[in-house]
Amino acid sequence: MIQPDDPFELYVEHPRFGNRPRITGLDPRPGCEGVYLGWRALDDWKIPGTAIVADLSRQTPATVPVTHYFDLKRICRDCGRPFLFFAEEQKHWYEELGFGLDSDCVRCPPCRVRQRGIARKRERYEEIFHVQERTTEQNIEMAECCLCLVEAAVFPPRQLERVRMLLNRVPDARRSDDQVVEMIARLRAVEERDKPDK
Ligand SMILES: [Zn+2]
Repeated sequence: MIQPDDPFELYVEHPRFGNRPRITGLDPRPGCEGVYLGWRALDDWKIPGTAIVADLSRQTPATVPVTHYFDLKRICRDCGRPFLFFAEEQKHWYEELGFGLDSDCVRCPPCRVRQRGIARKRERYEEIFHVQERTTEQNIEMAECCLCLVEAAVFPPRQLERVRMLLNRVPDARRSDDQVVEMIARLRAVEERDKPDK
């Protein structure tokens, strides 16, 4: 049978760990005494020989702890590309950041960065939304957040109405600002994209 030269060639690059598994030589088998891997035990996911030992005292208490982390093969929920959820990253998530052992990594590194940006826009949008008397700056920022959220399909296209309304409130003197001009162009591009077929 012909094997591809490098099965990880198409994997998304991790900024710190790259896109090749990190072989440690440790390969505890699930089901053996004292070995618990939880959902990570799937043979389709875990890469043999990449295990590192977990520090159970640092994990968030769970009914069943996890004794070893393996490099795992995953598919990104957003872009559909394969990526590795590294054992070292898991140790960091579950032992330093306090994530529950059931939390899984569903996005590749660039999509995670993008997702965090979207989450921030959403928070900021909510904050400004509740301001009683918004300044021009706040109206511009709110329009920008709203537009990003429509572009990312977090908000439905009808929210473009709000972007338009907010931009209409921008005084004439500010309408030629780069930021405003750029936003109007993006607004048109999204309208064009979401137009039903003629
Ligand atoms: Zn992705």
